[in-house]
Amino acid sequence: MLKKFLYILWISVFALLIIFSVKNGSFVSFINSMENSTFDIRQKILANSGVRKHNKDIVIVAIDDASYEYILDNYGEWPLRRDIYAKMVDYIEAQNPKSIAFDLMFVKSMKSDPASDKALIEVFKKYKNVFTAMNLDNQPEDLRTPVELPKKLAITEDFDNSYPAMEFSNCRTILEGILNATSNIGMINVSRYEDGVLRRMPLYLKYKNKLYPQLGYLVGNHYLQRFTESPEPKNIYPDDDASVILNWYGPAGTFENIPMYKLLKAIDGKEKFNYDFSGKVVYFGATAASLFDIKTVPVDKVYPGVEVQTTYVNNIIDGSLIQKAPTALNIIFIIILSVLTVICVLKIQSMPVAFGLSLTIYALYILYTYRIMKTNYIWVDIILPISFGIISFILTVIVKYLIKSRDFDQQYKLATTDGLTELYNHRYFQEQLQNQVSHSKRYNVPLSLIIIDIDFFKKFNDTYGHQSGDAVLKQVATLLKKNVRMTDIVCRYGGEEMSIILPNTKYEEAVGIANKLCTIVASKKCKLSGNRESNVTISLGVSTFGIDGETPAEIIESADKRLYNAKENGRNRVN
Ligand code: GH3
Ligand code: MG
Ligand code: MG
Repeated sequence: MLKKFLYILWISVFALLIIFSVKNGSFVSFINSMENSTFDIRQKILANSGVRKHNKDIVIVAIDDASYEYILDNYGEWPLRRDIYAKMVDYIEAQNPKSIAFDLMFVKSMKSDPASDKALIEVFKKYKNVFTAMNLDNQPEDLRTPVELPKKLAITEDFDNSYPAMEFSNCRTILEGILNATSNIGMINVSRYEDGVLRRMPLYLKYKNKLYPQLGYLVGNHYLQRFTESPEPKNIYPDDDASVILNWYGPAGTFENIPMYKLLKAIDGKEKFNYDFSGKVVYFGATAASLFDIKTVPVDKVYPGVEVQTTYVNNIIDGSLIQKAPTALNIIFIIILSVLTVICVLKIQSMPVAFGLSLTIYALYILYTYRIMKTNYIWVDIILPISFGIISFILTVIVKYLIKSRDFDQQYKLATTDGLTELYNHRYFQEQLQNQVSHSKRYNVPLSLIIIDIDFFKKFNDTYGHQSGDAVLKQVATLLKKNVRMTDIVCRYGGEEMSIILPNTKYEEAVGIANKLCTIVASKKCKLSGNRESNVTISLGVSTFGIDGETPAEIIESADKRLYNAKENGRNRVN
């Protein structure tokens, strides 16, 4: 009964925890942020252990601090003139790169020189492998009117208006000439988590009811289609925001950074530049601290935006975007860890061993989540399964302890009581008498003993049968127990003899109690088998510690003698 109840309790607490964890929003976000940290740790270990190999084709032409200084010194202005960018593109294109992408925006509103803008526009017309960036935002319409973007920039295939995607109301447009010259324009919006860490990137964004692709997605797909045998990107698992989780290769600086000033010196004819751009995916982007394009990502606190873009491109190319494990799989792991923990605690006697084994199971599980992220690019939850494992451990320990203590109580009762009368048994009587004698000796308090024997019980058995005899024994035992104090210890001495230890009771008092019991038993009709009734009488012998003896044996002997006298004197009496 109790066992069942405890298991039901266990399951109820567990169910409540699950409901609570699902319903309570702040709890969910707390768990999520913990889970995100475990993702970051896994990514950091993977990225730093060198197992994640980035694509050496992808290089960055970085506007680093030195280049920024060079530009200000030599051209006197920032942003750099567009014809200079055009010259750099021409220079790189001459070496036959796979593609060139600008993680920079050639914004319309910046002061621009039409001739130099035109040079850049021409570059976009000339080369089909040059990509550039744009940004969607939510600027108020009275500040900037949302423009209509050329149709060719939007994703048309499989378009469904109900596609989940981050939606924006406005757009920071770039040079109209570029907008018209090329469809190689992608967005560079990022999608941060609540904690500000950039773990994912959108595949596409929604603007004026159309979907627009991200720059990295375009560049990655261009690479797959033109330079590999498998044109379809693999492992694309967009979430509700149409974002995908990035898989990192290493801390900032993992991708080769070519300082832009070296390229500028080459095109300015100041210094030869021996770098070979053939077969490269060349990304232009700012890494200079003063240009402030810095993100916090799982593998690094200060990570240039352009490296986020190259990581994204690289993920698309090698099909290594992270897939978040489906909820069902995480639930299965929650159940497995919980069940294993429960088995551990129930089957293993030693608590420290059970605890150690449970911890080992969790450690193995964590190793497994690391492995599956390394080889299958799957993000399996750590926090919830292990939390549930630990909760299972605690609950099971409590349940086990309760069951054990109940079992112990039962064992103790079995060992100390008599099965028929439910009085204490002979062994317990001896033990208690010894204790009480010691106590009385030390504290000098009185102690009395009554030994009781049912009169003519042999005859009673012969007359009514053994079953009726047993029934009478039970009823007499109950009567005795009911009519003495809580502190008095009523025992079955043996056969139809019973004894009562009366702590703190003087001889006279004990005799009084014995007389009372004698009268009560004699006057009580006992129910017998077959709906019959009958009376029995008892004889009682009383002895007291200090008067009749100093040891349990002496006191018992004295009480026995008096009982014998009571029998001799006619039974149904006290002596
Ligand atoms: P008295 O004590 O008055 O001298 O006579 P008695 O017949 O009670 O004396 P005796 O000690 O000779 O007999 C005790 C009887 O009690 C013997 C046995 O049949 C009976 N008895 C002992 N234990 C049990 C028991 O557990 N159940 C039943 N039904 N009878 C028992
Ligand atoms: Mg007897
Ligand atoms: Mg008897």
